[in-house]
Amino acid sequence: MVHFALNLGAAMLNSEEIDIPCPECGHEASKTVDWVKANDELSCRRCGSVINLENERPFLIIAHVTRRIAKLRRSLAKFRNNPRGGAKKRR
Ligand SMILES: [Zn+2]
Repeated sequence: MVHFALNLGAAMLNSEEIDIPCPECGHEASKTVDWVKANDELSCRRCGSVINLENERPFLIIAHVTRRIAKLRRSLAKFRNNPRGGAKKRR
């Protein structure tokens, strides 16, 4: 699962922003996947504590991909439940 998410992240999400929550104060920093891959540490803008990205990276990417998929599912469900909404062709 970790490798799957990392590969997926590598393939399609490089320029997408990930929210990185600070474990100390909860402040979320938005960084691109590219940035997260290139950096090992992030210091929180609010409280100054250092977040070790090396450990967090897989979890951040998984969380992001999961959220992405959930969003996609929701819009697919909306599309299916609303056949008249632009989708006239049904099998
Ligand atoms: Zn903080």
